[in-house]
Amino acid sequence: MAEQDYEVFWQEALSLIRGEKDEPEFAMWFDIEYLRAVDDVITVTVPSAFYRDQVKQRYQNYIETKIRDLTGKNVSLLFEIKPRERARNINKDEKVNEKTIKTSSITNQIAIIKEKAPHSQLNRDYTFDKYVIGDNNSFAANAAKAIALNPGNTYNPLLIYGGVGLGKTHLMQSIGNLIHDKSESKIIYITAENFTNEFIREVKEDRMSAFKNKYRHTDVLLIDDIHFLQGKTQTQEELFYTFDALYDAKKQIVFTCDRPVSELKQITDRLRTRFERGLNVDLQPPKYETRCAILKKKMEERHITIPDEVINLVSKNISTNIRDLEAALTKLIAYAELLGKPITLDIAQQQLKDVFSSPKQFNISTETIMRVIAEYFNLSYSDLKGPKRGQSIVLARQLAMYIAREITEDTLTEIGQTFNRDYSTVIHAISRIDERIRTDSTMEPTIETLKRTIREAGSKL
Ligand code: ADP
Ligand code: MG
Repeated sequence: MAEQDYEVFWQEALSLIRGEKDEPEFAMWFDIEYLRAVDDVITVTVPSAFYRDQVKQRYQNYIETKIRDLTGKNVSLLFEIKPRERARNINKDEKVNEKTIKTSSITNQIAIIKEKAPHSQLNRDYTFDKYVIGDNNSFAANAAKAIALNPGNTYNPLLIYGGVGLGKTHLMQSIGNLIHDKSESKIIYITAENFTNEFIREVKEDRMSAFKNKYRHTDVLLIDDIHFLQGKTQTQEELFYTFDALYDAKKQIVFTCDRPVSELKQITDRLRTRFERGLNVDLQPPKYETRCAILKKKMEERHITIPDEVINLVSKNISTNIRDLEAALTKLIAYAELLGKPITLDIAQQQLKDVFSSPKQFNISTETIMRVIAEYFNLSYSDLKGPKRGQSIVLARQLAMYIAREITEDTLTEIGQTFNRDYSTVIHAISRIDERIRTDSTMEPTIETLKRTIREAGSKL
């Protein structure tokens, strides 16, 4: 029998479930702890036999499906009973504290807790206290704070936009956490993707009135990553009605998006005008000093010290994405812990060399790629988007698509849209260039030169 480690999948499944369920429901029925896994059977513990029977009946299939989706394996759940300890040392550390609160909401046994239970859909680490403010985000952060202090009455809706990993979710959840701490307001946080999935499911199961009731009667609605709604006409329509209901009732709405609303495609006009109402604020990549400050803040939170020169090195090399900045730090910490050695400049340089040279950290847009390539081929930018089919235009266009696929995070559909074409044209372009690379030995060096120029152009932005 092989012991397997499904714990990360378990945690991931729980966090997905947390996003899908109401706060009280999650608090009530997901006090389930991972114990072990053997041969695709995951054993978890629950507090009582009653609890076990309820969970089995209500959620066993649902949880198993979630884990299957994540692992691709046919896993099943086995329940063991383990009465939950009542915590004694409530203030000993944060972990114990959290646990106590969780247990208390289920069993109602501990009356001494004054602190409010955290909101089940919000990450406790995403607060204003932990958000470093720099030139790049101060307007957005101040607007967010003003809203959190006076929801529904200042700017409605607030829409925060900016590239991947620049702190949109953190800021949005900070609003939620602050309102949650200060009031009894009902707050819903959901990604546009989960909103869409839930909508589809509820339509299918004929439970639309419950869905409407839930979203149209909340005090604060936070919808993350609304660019996901592009092309999802029915979900857009539903959101439109939800929006109007909440807006008329002066309930606060906050959205995030990975680009300005004007650049969203396949969004109905009436929803677009809703997004643009209120206040739209952007997050820019942080400058060097802010990057250093963010890393220092993250170290402080983890009670770790790292030499300044290492912080400076990481901040200098990872310039446009805070998530990557943090990931580099985590990698260094893990390495140092594994070896039991302090982190030195040498170790950092060596450990992070791949990260530093990765093209994705430059947040380059397909537009930048197109401009560089147009210039290289002595064409205009609009030639690449237009219908012309001359030999060099076709090659330039295909190269631009090929490189966009390699060094941006855009999907094939998104790349196609930038060129006014559909994704199958992008696939075709990529295979044409692959073919040329095989038959023409100048092709690869040309692509490398172009990529370098593009990166340079991107880093000057
Ligand atoms: P996005 O939603 O824009 O993709 P996130 O909000 O998920 O980005 O942020 C990515 C990571 O960077 C998170 O761990 C977040 O805490 C951190 N982060 C982003 N901006 C800041 C900031 N100004 N101060 C501290 N941490 C930040
Ligand atoms: Mg996000």
